[in-house]
Formats: sequence, C-alpha cells, structure tokens
Amino acid sequence: MSRKFYWITISKDYLIGFGLLLLVIYILSLPSSYHLAELSMAVMSTPVKYDIVIDPGHGGIDSGGIGAGSVYEKDLVLDIALRMQRCLETAGLKVGLTRDSDTDVTHLATKAGTRHQRDLDGRFMAVHEGVLGISIHANIAKNAREQGALVFYLRDSYIDKQYAELVLKQIEKVQVLNYKHPVPRSNLLLLKAKLPVLLIEVGFLSNPEDLAKLTNSQFRQTLAEALSRGIVSFYNVYRSERTE
Ligand SMILES: [Zn+2]
Repeated sequence: MSRKFYWITISKDYLIGFGLLLLVIYILSLPSSYHLAELSMAVMSTPVKYDIVIDPGHGGIDSGGIGAGSVYEKDLVLDIALRMQRCLETAGLKVGLTRDSDTDVTHLATKAGTRHQRDLDGRFMAVHEGVLGISIHANIAKNAREQGALVFYLRDSYIDKQYAELVLKQIEKVQVLNYKHPVPRSNLLLLKAKLPVLLIEVGFLSNPEDLAKLTNSQFRQTLAEALSRGIVSFYNVYRSERTE
C-alpha cells in the first residue's frame, strides 16, 4: 500500500465520520428546538395573573416519596404550600397554586404524552401565570443519613441564582441544609420557565430527624414562613429592578 493511498483512505473515513457526526448533531438539535418553539408559543399566550405561583410537587396517583409510617411527600408539600399561600397573601402578594388538593396537574397540560409528561407540562404552563414560581418537594435517599434542605435553580441564570440565595438564607434559619449553597441544575423542565423558578427540597423523608420535623405542623408552619420571607425579599428586589 502506497503512502498516498493510505492517506486517502484515512481522509475518506474521516470525512464519512465527520458527516455522520454532523448528521447526529442535526438530528439531536431538531426535536429540542422544535419543542422549545412549541413551548414558547403556548407560554407567550399565558397571561400573568399572580405575583407567585406555588407548585406543590406530585399529587393524586403520584404520591412522591414515602417516608416511614406512610408519610406521603404529596401531602406534606401541599400543606406547606397552603401555609405559604396564607403567609404570602398576608404580605400582599397574589398567589396561585398549581394544585390546592390531592390531584395531579395533567388537566392543565397543553399537549399529549404520558401521564408524567402531561403532569410536568401542566406545571410548566401553570407556573407561567406568575411573576415568580416555586416548586416544593421533599427528598428520599438510600442513605438514611442524608439530611436537610436543597435549593435548585436554573444553571447560568444570574437572576435565578439571586432568588435562590435569598430563599436559602431564610431556610437556613429554620432547617439544616443538605448543601450550603443553591445547586444549579439544567435538566429540570420547571426551572426553564421564562420566569425565575426555584425547586426546593425541604428535607429527606428517609432521614428520621427530617421526617420528625416535617410531620410536625409547627415545623411546617415555621418552614412556610421562612420560605415566604425569602420569596418576598426577592420579589421586592425583582419588581423594583423590572420597573426601573
Ligand atoms: Zn418530589
């Protein structure tokens, strides 16, 4: 085999490989950009009705995490959300909820899909009725020692990070933190909304101390008040920045 022939073979393989790579990149980019365009169309026509939309995770057939003694995440986070609603309304904010009873949110979906996909889409759509959004969850881990709250925000969003820091600062006063800073995430649909949205894990149902706290209504009230203080402090900054 001549040296020249060998080079041509390599370069041909290289070109085919490169072409295939481009094709894969193109195919991968297609559904996501189509999906985004579709979402923004529906989202743009959603009127803003509330200062904040609270999303209690799960509900209905979806119990979320289950702690010892049949403690359901869906029940705890709904209770916290309803307490937050009262606090925030007292503070003068207009509050919307993605659900205020034991139901999932599939009825708010704008497109077809599995129950889980429609539930996610319903929450994503509903949160766009707010200036701000917050989703409330409780965690489960294999390691029972995992403990404390987590605050997730959209990676690379400066404004969402500010929101996350103000809320975390208030949570820290009433609950152990699992991680001392807000955690950036890029794979959670709800955080990709066109408004600042946080996802809060209030504690671990798999941890005995967290479970004892979360099943105590006084603790849930304290937590709801802390979350509300964090929201109000960010809301005031955000609103003044937007009207300047
Ligand atoms: Zn959850």
